[in-house]
Amino acid sequence: MSLRERVNQPKDTRPWYGELPVESLYTVGIAGEKFLRTLKEKGQFLGTKCDRCRQVYVPPKIYCERCLAKLDDWVKVGSCGTLESWTMVHVGLDGQKLKKPELVALVKLDGASTCIVHKLAGIPVEELHIGMRVCAVLKPKTKREGAITDILHFKPADR
Ligand SMILES: [Zn+2]
Repeated sequence: MSLRERVNQPKDTRPWYGELPVESLYTVGIAGEKFLRTLKEKGQFLGTKCDRCRQVYVPPKIYCERCLAKLDDWVKVGSCGTLESWTMVHVGLDGQKLKKPELVALVKLDGASTCIVHKLAGIPVEELHIGMRVCAVLKPKTKREGAITDILHFKPADR
């Protein structure tokens, strides 16, 4: 079967063994760029607001996920928030086992309706609890690159 062979019926499909070179380029989009640029340059978190649905999206969206309205009302949200959930991660994004497991958290920043996913550090897992206050730890301004890794991790607010 060649790549140009056309299958008109799903029952005529067959497995193809081998490898395909796949490359992808991820772009953060309009909202993601403004979010990351502001984080890099000002160390502030931005969200977009839908007045109709009373939602503040962080990370920001350019369309409301609920009513599909175009969103262009940008609002500052806090760099601290509440821990909504967490998990211990043992495998990295490359599929390889991590040398040391990492905590990954869902954090709802103050003023946001949605959560951001990021690393959590500075606390033993036994001390974690839903609703605890956590704050973002950013790279020093001169080291920021305009990437989500400009946030080093979240840590408990009281430490
Ligand atoms: Zn909406």
